[in-house]
Amino acid sequence: MSGASASTREYHANPTWRSKKEAQQVDYPSQEAFQSVMNRIERLPGLVSPNEIDRLRTQLASVAEGNAFLLQTGDCAELFDYCDPEQIQAKLKLSLLMSLILIWGARKPVVRIGRIAGQYAKPRSKPTEIVTKIDPVTGQASQHEIMSFRGDNINAFSAEPASGRIPDPERLLQAYFHSAATLNHIRSELASGLADLHAPRQWSFQHVQSSALQAEFESVVDSLTDALDFMRTIGADPSTFSSSSVLNSVDYFISHEGLSLGYEEALTRLVRKPTPANPHSARNVHPSDLANGAPTGDSFDRYDLSAHTIWLGDRTRQLDGAHVDFFSSIRNPVGVKVGPSMKPSELIQILDILNPDVPIPAAASSARTSGWSTPSGTTPNIVYGKEKGRVMVIIRLGAAKVTSHLPPLLEAIAASNHKDSIILLCDPMHGNTQTSPYPPASSDPNAQPLKTRSFGDIISEILSFLEIISSDFPTLHLGGVHLELTGDKDVTECFGGSMRLEPKDLERGYKSHCDPRLNFEQSLDVAFLLSHYFRN
Ligand code: PEP
Ligand code: MN
Repeated sequence: MSGASASTREYHANPTWRSKKEAQQVDYPSQEAFQSVMNRIERLPGLVSPNEIDRLRTQLASVAEGNAFLLQTGDCAELFDYCDPEQIQAKLKLSLLMSLILIWGARKPVVRIGRIAGQYAKPRSKPTEIVTKIDPVTGQASQHEIMSFRGDNINAFSAEPASGRIPDPERLLQAYFHSAATLNHIRSELASGLADLHAPRQWSFQHVQSSALQAEFESVVDSLTDALDFMRTIGADPSTFSSSSVLNSVDYFISHEGLSLGYEEALTRLVRKPTPANPHSARNVHPSDLANGAPTGDSFDRYDLSAHTIWLGDRTRQLDGAHVDFFSSIRNPVGVKVGPSMKPSELIQILDILNPDVPIPAAASSARTSGWSTPSGTTPNIVYGKEKGRVMVIIRLGAAKVTSHLPPLLEAIAASNHKDSIILLCDPMHGNTQTSPYPPASSDPNAQPLKTRSFGDIISEILSFLEIISSDFPTLHLGGVHLELTGDKDVTECFGGSMRLEPKDLERGYKSHCDPRLNFEQSLDVAFLLSHYFRN
């Protein structure tokens, strides 16, 4: 490695998070092996670009203003094995279909973010689990304590006691390359016209079983095709519009839980801030830029190029922890999961850290910031405010708790100076996990009772969220939804929905190694439900 790149690296390091407690830290057998992988990743190109991140920031500002809707969807835990063209296309098509249905109902652009191309790390409540193994020769059963599965980038799911699920740092390098291959396929599909809104019928809707859903979709497509024909007739073909056009917007952003801070840091780069004189100067810092010493905080930003946005999990959001500190240090928009244990005052403290007041040159300030003030003693042409859309608050309380726990959280937000900058997302999945009443039919002694979610609970949480916001919080709005789903049509992990799956059907197509996901048809059910809500 050249001396020059080593010195660039020194300035990438944000010393403060490293001195704080890192929840869910992984114990690698060899720190040297881990460090050597990190050194390799530091020299690899970013997976996304600072310009793309800035583009998402602009779109999220519109979501915060209520002018766009956010749809964040994907697997609970992505596996390296999911990096196959059919599966990637299926997820992409489902996201496009859902957004089309939402655009039709809400009459707003939809910002699409996938839990994809890097959603490999999982936080666990227990570090180990007990598995039973049957000796194939003697038939004797024995119990083994092995590490919990922490996601494909940490250890292998295979519960062979011999492997013990020992963490292997090489998996982080594999994660990088699987993310890169997945993202490359997404980019090439979008560039090849997968998202052509003139041909939505090709998006494989024919697999939907429910004839009512089929008919609904036909009518959405008909009205859209009419609108497109009309626009072409009057010479305003939306495909000639700028990318901000509702119909021609084919951006698709990637996200994952920012759990493995070493990996996130290794993909974080210093980027020169644009200046009024040179507004397009955002680019990675070259070692020669550093010849005259360290860059100052005023001239550079840190961009985490592992994804356009990452989120802070409900288990790693400690106020004084390493994760909150790392998240506060990057320019990317960030999410924070909010479960029932979050106190309203704690939420505001986290928001203060993640989205502090920043100075905005008056000339450059626009509708993108809010809550401006000019503290005494500061230069009058600088205003201070919050960056709009910087934080997505992803609320996951569960259908049973949303009515009691949501109002105090919303009251605190509405009374704070975050109210205009925040994006409120409803995650109706993580508070609604339950165990299937049916014991596993499999003869595998390691078979666990299935984790599932009721479609009815998922819908009920979304509707309660909407009801509470619209009746009691006129200054706030639902910015979007965060869903665990799969484009796979045969998956049976959640019960209910227009396919009328029963808990006893789950074993038939249960594929998740982590949380249960909505299948293709159930996902469209949710999209139609939201679409109807906004239309009426
Ligand atoms: C998840 O999104 O898969 C997850 C683990 O969420 P939470 O942090 O909300 O439990
Ligand atoms: Mn999950």
